[in-house]
Amino acid sequence: MSKYHADQRGRYGKFGGAYIPEMLQPNIDDLNERYLPIINSQAFQDEYKSLLKDYVGRPSPLYYAKRLSEKYHTNVYLKREDLNHTGAHKINNAIGQILIAKKMGKNRIIAETGAGQHGVATATACALMGMQCVVYMGEVDIQRQAPNVARMKMLGAEVRPALSGSKTLKDATNEALRDWICNPTDTFYLIGSVVGPHPYPDMVARLQAVISHEIREQMLEKTGTPNPDYVIACVGGGSNAAGTFYHFLDEEGVRLVAVEAAGMGVDSGETAATIALGDVGIIHGSKTYLIQDEDGQIVEPYSISAGLDYPGIGPQHAHLKDTGRAIFLSATDQDALDAALELTRLEGIIPALESAHALSALRKMTFQPSDKVVITVSGRGDKDMETYMKRFQL
Ligand SMILES: *Cc1c(COP(=O)(O)O)cnc(C)c1O
Repeated sequence: MSKYHADQRGRYGKFGGAYIPEMLQPNIDDLNERYLPIINSQAFQDEYKSLLKDYVGRPSPLYYAKRLSEKYHTNVYLKREDLNHTGAHKINNAIGQILIAKKMGKNRIIAETGAGQHGVATATACALMGMQCVVYMGEVDIQRQAPNVARMKMLGAEVRPALSGSKTLKDATNEALRDWICNPTDTFYLIGSVVGPHPYPDMVARLQAVISHEIREQMLEKTGTPNPDYVIACVGGGSNAAGTFYHFLDEEGVRLVAVEAAGMGVDSGETAATIALGDVGIIHGSKTYLIQDEDGQIVEPYSISAGLDYPGIGPQHAHLKDTGRAIFLSATDQDALDAALELTRLEGIIPALESAHALSALRKMTFQPSDKVVITVSGRGDKDMETYMKRFQL
């Protein structure tokens, strides 16, 4: 394994690991023993690939964005995760983990969700596989994200409110962990990004790696070489970025660019720019950068896009930052709105607000006319229409 992947103990340099309560150790040990043999088995690969193809609709297109390319005097290719079933990349991971759960003999899935996108992906995969599904969600988030709550319920999931603390994502996470401790034998904990204790960051990255696998094949077909000059993705926890980077990590000629959410501005106090502002700490069982106050308390993050509104970042990204392997940029709410409108008007694609952060890199960097720049459009904008209506006065 290369220096950018997890070692045996789930370390990425000084980041990662599994900082968990002792009572969770058996669950984590069990998963650790099983996940690689399952993922590498022919039976898993056959079933996973078949569902990605016929259910999710993969491979997602790699689209040469002609008008966007003309505007920025370079060659822009869009990896269209927005065209997946349920409208984003999260389904790749949800289906993969459900299949792993099934092979481990589990029949009950638990998850936590903030904006509800991961909850919907999980509830979708559970309906598909006939699994029981419980999604923990902060009570405040339940109020804010009514359409996603309705989707989860229609899909047959039980949405349980987290009533403690700020009644948001971190409180929902605590509830999910408590549930897992109480139900170690029949229950699988399905995490939605490259975060959490080892082996989750590595497992989720492997499941999202289909994105860079396809990019290489599609670039080869379109340009005669598998490697672009740049791959660019937004980062919340970092799963679509981890999938976009995966097969390029050891191709040092490919520059990796991650764009995090600056909210109202990196120094505004209303931000989710973890790499720009964070210090090393422990969150969700993993050592990584996180936004914390002087007492080590986690600071509530803010971004216009609910999916990037996370106070930490996956440990692999923290390592990519420290080693200088990836370039980290941040984009404000306004940068993202501008980029979203630009993509819509130039290419007829309304992106998710999260994805618009990645697209804003086109204005922040300079590219050569011969460069091949791949940007992952992690999701579609349907879920963000209310925000767009307000901000663009539609
Ligand atoms: C959840 C989400 C993200 C952020 O999650 P990552 O794990 O950082 O990929 C980005 N884009 C969309 C569309 C999302 O739904």
